[in-house]
Amino acid sequence: MGRQGKPKGAKGSTLLRVLTPREVATSELPPSDRMPCPGLWKTPVIRWDGELMACCADVDNEISIGSLRDHTFDALWFGERMTELRLLHIEGRFDAIPKCWSCGGINFYKMEPGEVREYLDEVGRADLYAIYRRRMGLPSEGP
Ligand code: SF4
Repeated sequence: MGRQGKPKGAKGSTLLRVLTPREVATSELPPSDRMPCPGLWKTPVIRWDGELMACCADVDNEISIGSLRDHTFDALWFGERMTELRLLHIEGRFDAIPKCWSCGGINFYKMEPGEVREYLDEVGRADLYAIYRRRMGLPSEGP
């Protein structure tokens, strides 16, 4: 997903930084066994004023994705910022997102390993699957 698709002017659009493939291969794996929050994939929330929320827990808009008054849903939900948030969750770097760090995450539905794998393939970061698989204690083979 190229920078061209990045929604312009979204509040809080300073991007965090996902590990590079080289860092994935050489750095120590994050110890967290917390699963990626499925809200980032499955339950977008639109606030009364048109702000698209990353999840139902962020009614104060701390994560700040952007407004549907200024951008299309696809530009925001499939844009660079949401992609980065999802990849950070897959990496287990919840501390990089203060709202998520202090939140237990949604646990009454989830992202299945196969869904995570499919997503990583879609965004061209299949290299991150190794981190996710190790964090979740999954066998080295399989979805
Ligand atoms: S971890 Fe909490 S704040 Fe972060 S996306 Fe999930 S529900 Fe929202």
